Amino acid sequence: MAVFLLITFYFREGGQGKGFIFEKSPINYRMYFKVLAESFDRIEKASSRLAMTDLLAELFKKADSDEIARVVYLCQGQLAPPYKGIEVGMGERFAEEAIAKAAGYSKEEVRRAYKKKGDLGLVAEELLKKKKQRSLFSSELTMEKVFRNLMKIATSGGKGSQQLKIKLLAELLNSASPMEARYLIRIPLGNLRLGIGDPTMMDAFAINLLSEAKRNKKLVKDVEASLKEKKPEKRKEEFDRKLRLGVREMIEDKYNVHSDLGYLAEKLRKHGLKGLNKIGIRPGIPIRPTLAERLPTAKEIIKKLGRCEVEAKYDGFRLAVHKDGKKVTIFSRRQENVTEMFPEIVEAAKKQIKAGDAIFEGEALAVNEETSEYYPFQVTIQRKRKYDIGKMAKEFPLKLFAFDLLYANGKNLMQLPFRERRKRLRKLIGRGKTIVLTDAIVTDSVDEMLLFFNESVEKGLEGTIAKDLNARYIAGARKFAWIKLKRSYRGELSDTIDTVVIGFFKGRGQRARFGLGALLTAVYDEREDSFKSIAKVGTGMSEEMLKELHKMLSKIREAKKPAGVDSDLKPDVWVEPKYVIEVNADEITRSPVHTAGKGKGKAGLALRFPRMVKIRQDKKPEQATTVKEIEGMFKKQKHVRVGG
Ligand code: ATP
Repeated sequence: MAVFLLITFYFREGGQGKGFIFEKSPINYRMYFKVLAESFDRIEKASSRLAMTDLLAELFKKADSDEIARVVYLCQGQLAPPYKGIEVGMGERFAEEAIAKAAGYSKEEVRRAYKKKGDLGLVAEELLKKKKQRSLFSSELTMEKVFRNLMKIATSGGKGSQQLKIKLLAELLNSASPMEARYLIRIPLGNLRLGIGDPTMMDAFAINLLSEAKRNKKLVKDVEASLKEKKPEKRKEEFDRKLRLGVREMIEDKYNVHSDLGYLAEKLRKHGLKGLNKIGIRPGIPIRPTLAERLPTAKEIIKKLGRCEVEAKYDGFRLAVHKDGKKVTIFSRRQENVTEMFPEIVEAAKKQIKAGDAIFEGEALAVNEETSEYYPFQVTIQRKRKYDIGKMAKEFPLKLFAFDLLYANGKNLMQLPFRERRKRLRKLIGRGKTIVLTDAIVTDSVDEMLLFFNESVEKGLEGTIAKDLNARYIAGARKFAWIKLKRSYRGELSDTIDTVVIGFFKGRGQRARFGLGALLTAVYDEREDSFKSIAKVGTGMSEEMLKELHKMLSKIREAKKPAGVDSDLKPDVWVEPKYVIEVNADEITRSPVHTAGKGKGKAGLALRFPRMVKIRQDKKPEQATTVKEIEGMFKKQKHVRVGG
């Protein structure tokens, strides 16, 4: 009864104020799902990234420390950090059935409405508004209830599980308001459509720590020392901006070594800025990878790094191996747990790694054991699969070419200079044929570097990566600690670009039969957490590929331009920014058509003669090439052969 009174009070107050109610719950989740749904609705309507971030910060303030992690996951349409691999994952047909059940319509009616609206979330909202049969038992939805049901949907499998999932979702919809229903449907479909990336989340965390930061003498002193503005008002503005940036960087530093935003949010909520000290590197939790910069010639690389280590650049997939006693976990480039896929590497890590616990990285490649030749990428990539793992492991065993060591025997080694980490890595790897060190030389000679580069290319490898012997491991950033040098041919950029598909054009003539003529692609703007158009890609795809792309993209159609996408070009079909494709091009040019790098009186940047190379399943959209990188490549652009 008391709870009911409080609920009534909350609604009379129009959801203002603290926004959650205390109720007796063993797990102490006090937030109502309505609070979340209302925030999502406002975020969806927000006119700018800044407004969106403020709204998120407001929402986080309303959550208690024992529920904030879940709020954080839900904001990105997840139930747990991505590395745990828990996906609600429900097919559209089943979601339609749940809506039909809850709203009292037939499945056909729901499907017809979906065809018209193109968004099942909106369909659920509309149909619930017109609800024909009111459920007798509808009650206010708590976060706890939503979480419990979604988790059951995510984890139930086997016979009869589809019906159970429909029932669980319909149960939630029965108690939901139309607006809540919009999000309750979108979450299991894996498309929340809010466009909130990790940077926006961290900005929102930073906002909520600002008043504490202003009381932190050291921080304030550091920021004040960096101020340039003289006029008091402007100086204050600069101070606020830099302080916020400073706090955001402190948060990101931790996120880079402990990629779990929910966990971070919880620690910050409980302990404020001091919470950051409690977050560190731990085997079993992914670390964001360090990334390579580009320079077009060996000469420039030597000029930049001086004496450096030059390693062969293998074209397989990057794996981070975490050994914790007898437990081995393997993460992919996009920090997914892929342990199950690579049993031979798990075994080798147990046998070959001479440390109780360790985190190291390497590139995995299928190698022909008889000829010792590397298989091409197309063969290696077949090892990324969920079925027939044992059979494929026998047919195409992997070798892991280890290249960095981040942690061993309870110690974080990321701050050590690379030469020291490499030395320890060499000692760490015991005898065996699965885990080996990358081929490498140490040199300060351009000629030696080129010789090594050419030998690597002749062996069928991609090129080389030069490494700064004195650099620490810089998680999550592309700095000049690593510089790649790739094979490239006259008339090509010295590196391919990883773009995100944001839409497609249907195509005319021959192409019309595939329903896809060209892809509209974008690069990632880290500062704005948005995707900016850079190229229309219509060549480089085989017929097979066109068919596959059309199938993949049709599943993620959007009725309008998705949140977080910035493009003046309008494709025939918008899609959720989800897939990364690697594109080659002749050069980067200025173009009024595209939005990447546009602004301050400058036209955007575009790829000239772009052609598709392959789908990059190992990359998340936020790991695509960034606007900043494109700008850098544009400035450095030279049509010279590598090494020439
Ligand atoms: P990035 O990973 O930099 O975003 P990418 O995946 O397109 O981009 P490149 O930039 O071409 O790859 O090169 C960096 C990648 O090369 C690493 O992420 C790793 O997967 C791979 N690699 C192969 N050999 C090595 C090596 N010896 N040292 C480090 N990385 C290597």
